Amino acid sequence: MTPVFSGVTHMFSPNDLEAYWMPFTANRAFKSSPRMLVAAKDMHYTSADGRQILDGTSGLWCCNAGHGRAKITEAIQRQAAEMDYAPPFQVGHPAAFELANRLTDIMAGDLNHVFFTNSGSEAVDTALKIALAYHKACGNGGRVKFIGRDKGYHGVGFGGISVGGLGGNKKQFGNQLPGVDHMPFFYDKATSAFSKGQPVHGADIADDLEAIITLHDASTVAAVIVEPVVGSAGVFVPPKGYLERLRAICDKHGVLLIFDEVITGFGRLGTAFGVDKFKVVPDLVTTAKGLNSGTVPMGAVFARDGIYRAIVDGAPEGAIELFHGYTYSAHPLACAAALAAQAVYKEEDLFARAGALETYWQGAAHALKEAQHVVDIRNIGLVAGIELAPRAGKPAARAFDVFLKAFEKGLLIRTTGDTIALSPPLIISKTEIDQIFSTLLDILKETA
Ligand code: PMP
Repeated sequence: MTPVFSGVTHMFSPNDLEAYWMPFTANRAFKSSPRMLVAAKDMHYTSADGRQILDGTSGLWCCNAGHGRAKITEAIQRQAAEMDYAPPFQVGHPAAFELANRLTDIMAGDLNHVFFTNSGSEAVDTALKIALAYHKACGNGGRVKFIGRDKGYHGVGFGGISVGGLGGNKKQFGNQLPGVDHMPFFYDKATSAFSKGQPVHGADIADDLEAIITLHDASTVAAVIVEPVVGSAGVFVPPKGYLERLRAICDKHGVLLIFDEVITGFGRLGTAFGVDKFKVVPDLVTTAKGLNSGTVPMGAVFARDGIYRAIVDGAPEGAIELFHGYTYSAHPLACAAALAAQAVYKEEDLFARAGALETYWQGAAHALKEAQHVVDIRNIGLVAGIELAPRAGKPAARAFDVFLKAFEKGLLIRTTGDTIALSPPLIISKTEIDQIFSTLLDILKETA
C-alpha cells in the first residue's frame, strides 16, 4: 500500500503506513482511509489535502492557547538552541524552578509544590506514589488502598488503569494494582439530562464513599482519585455539592483527595483549575495538556505543603526523599514552552475569556437539543458533551460517523462512545462557536 498525500503546503508520501502503530486508533480502518493533518495555526488545522479544519477539541483537550502561537514556538526554539537537555536528578536548571513558581502562583490553597512528569498518565502514577509515600512518612504505612470511581479515566499506566473505571482500558491487560475499589458514578439521566452546568441532583451519591472507606477500614485507605469534571467517559459535570462531600468524607477519615485535572486545568472551565471553579481544594492535583498548550509533552503534580513537608523534611539529612522521577522530568523545552504558554494565558486573560464565553457556549450547545438522535447535552466552561442515541447493536458507531462527516466538512471533534466531546481552544470566537454547532446540526439532520 503506497498512498500519496498532497497538500497545499506539504507534499509527502509515507510509503507504508504499517510501521506506525497508532494509539487508541482502529489501525486497519484508519490505514485503509487515512486522515492527515499537516499544519496548524490559531483555531485551525490544515489537512493534507489543503482544507482548513476548525479545531473543536484543542487537539486533544490540550492546545488551550490555540495553535502556532509565536511566543510559545519562539521560546521552544530559543531553549533548544541554548540548552537542549539537562539531567533532572541532583542537578537543576532555572526554568524548572521558575515554572514551578509561576504554577504555584495560580494554584489555590497550599498546593505549593510541583513534581514534573511527561504526561497525564505519569502525573497520575506519580500522585498515587506520593500518596503512599506520604502516609508511610507519617507512620501510616498501612494506608495502601486507592478508591477511584466508575467511568473514571486516569491515563494508561498500570496505576491509572487500576484506579480508572473504564472496562475497555483494563480488559486486555490482566493484573492491575491490588487494593483498589471504585465509587459508583454520580450521574442519573432521569434527573439530570440536559442540565446546564452542574446538575442539581446527585450530591448524595458521594456518601457511598463513606461506606466504601468504612468497609475497607479507613486505616488501610491512602487516597481517593476523581476527575472534577469527567472528560474521556463523555463529559459529566459533578452535581452541586458532590465534590464538597467527597472532601468532607476524606477529611473525616484521613484519606487524601486527588483531583485529576489533566483536562480541567489551565482555563478549560473558565477558571485556572477545577479547584477554583468548584471551590474545593484537594491534597494532590494532576495536570498535563494545557500546561504548555500541548506543545511539548509535559505533566505536573501539585502537592499540598503538608505532603511535601512530611516526605521531604521527614527524611534523613542528605537522603533522596522520594525515589521517583523521569529522565525527562522538567525537560528544558517543555519548561520553556510552559513558561511561554502561561505568559500567553495571562496576557490574554484566556481563563477569564473562557469563563465569559460560557453562557454563549452553553446556549449554542443546548440549541442542539431538538436535533435528531440527541439524548443528552452536558456543559461547563468551554466543554460540552452531546450524547447521541446509539445505533441499534452498534454502540459508538453513530458518533463516529458524525466525527468522520465533521472532518469532511472541516471540523475536528472528539467522540467517546456515543458522545461528541467538544473543548475548543480558549481563543475561539462566537462566530466559530456558531460554526461548530451549525456544522453538527447539519450532520445530524443528514444522519439517518
Ligand atoms: N487523566 C485524565 C483526566 C485525562 O483526561 C487524561 C488524558 N486524556 C490522562 C489522565 C492521561 O494523560 P496522557 O494521555 O497525557 O497520559
